[in-house]
Amino acid sequence: MPVCASSGVYVPRDTHRCDAAVLVQHHLAGFLERVEEGSHAPLPDFVRDELRGFAVCGDFSQGFVRTACRRCGDELRVPFPCKGRGFCPSCMGRRMAEGAALLVDHVLPAVGYRQWVLSFSGPLAVRLGYDRELLAAVSGCLGRAVLRDIRRAVKREHGLASVAELHGGVVTVVQRFRSDLGLYVHLHLLVTDGAFEECTGELPFRAAPPPTPERMTAILGRVHEVLAAAAHDADDLDLDPALAACVQHSLRGPHLAAVAPDTEPPPHTVSAYGLHLHAATTVDGRDRRRLERVCRYLLRPPFAHDAIEALADGRVRVHFKAPSRRGAAFADMSVDTFLSRLCALVPPPRFHMTRYYGVFASRHRLRARVIPSSPQPLAPMQLSLLFRTALPDELREATMTPRRIGWAHLLARVFAVDVTVCSKCGGRMKIVEVVTDPAAIAELLHGARAPPRACPPGQLRMFA
Ligand SMILES: [Zn+2]
Ligand SMILES: [Zn+2]
Repeated sequence: MPVCASSGVYVPRDTHRCDAAVLVQHHLAGFLERVEEGSHAPLPDFVRDELRGFAVCGDFSQGFVRTACRRCGDELRVPFPCKGRGFCPSCMGRRMAEGAALLVDHVLPAVGYRQWVLSFSGPLAVRLGYDRELLAAVSGCLGRAVLRDIRRAVKREHGLASVAELHGGVVTVVQRFRSDLGLYVHLHLLVTDGAFEECTGELPFRAAPPPTPERMTAILGRVHEVLAAAAHDADDLDLDPALAACVQHSLRGPHLAAVAPDTEPPPHTVSAYGLHLHAATTVDGRDRRRLERVCRYLLRPPFAHDAIEALADGRVRVHFKAPSRRGAAFADMSVDTFLSRLCALVPPPRFHMTRYYGVFASRHRLRARVIPSSPQPLAPMQLSLLFRTALPDELREATMTPRRIGWAHLLARVFAVDVTVCSKCGGRMKIVEVVTDPAAIAELLHGARAPPRACPPGQLRMFA
């Protein structure tokens, strides 16, 4: 969501400026036809809905919320988001900002952290995108194995009698994508780099020594056991034919080598059993800004608005956030490959993309004593952008829900601007009307009523 560079005023995103949305708008119907003709079956609803929603995310013609200044009456219009969970840069960007703020304010204590990344070779990185049970088993096994390893390391390091009183915490985030948007499931773990020792009413934090290759190989061994046991149950992934065709198509075309084979492995990197574990990045949790940046990195969307470029020859260029290890800065692909990859990025319903283990698990008895004790109060929501077909009542109710951090609060956090304050007179902005009726939309957009405040070109984008 952009903020006008000249005035600092929050303005809605213009979907027509984002090549990814334009590509989906122009090519979705033909693409769906080709996929469904080839596989004689429709794509599952969760994929079609995601693509259709993305094509109109932030589109005023689909409806919007009118807000106005209580004092001078100045009006601002905010369109509905698609609430996409797979790739929409706006909606996932919002979720990233919200999730990172939530983690830092309400979950992660000010101790040391290490980021652990588990990635998979071959078809497993695809299978885990659709096999919910296997993903849960692998994620749970890895979380527990890392915690067990850390408790033992802390016991040895500090000469403690037992590991029984030691407790670490893990936040695991499932990412589905590579830089080239290929489906590539891997797990990012933010792990306490040490453990809390429960001793006579106190919970001091004991730092762990850095992991050794032997310790990391042992962790991979535990994950391998889970995978080997699961392989007996089922070899074939049970996917809808159309989605299976899409996933197959998405795997063709350009892609990056996950691990460059001819380079020296970076420190704290171990490969075994076709699994790769990386654990070089540490964060001092007292540096709350850096910790929040790391959380945002874990929760980030697959691509930014300006990362997708429609080329003159009809192909699509995906610009990488950073050059690949082999120096590539982008990947070019056909429109069908691009759309197939978007389809494969959408997680099936009820896939949990963030999981908590150890002291961060919701039912751990020490959780309340470990998490930040004086969290920043959650601001009530001024503008709920959560409900695509919101009615005024739902919206009003949503503004009272304290569980979500308000968009206004988030924008203030990200951009240091406040959308609840009128840019003209400093008065408070309020929600006037939720416009969802097509006739009312047309009248407000094209009719005699005053046009919405528009932002001149040159908007700041969230990930620019
Ligand atoms: Zn005003
Ligand atoms: Zn969206």
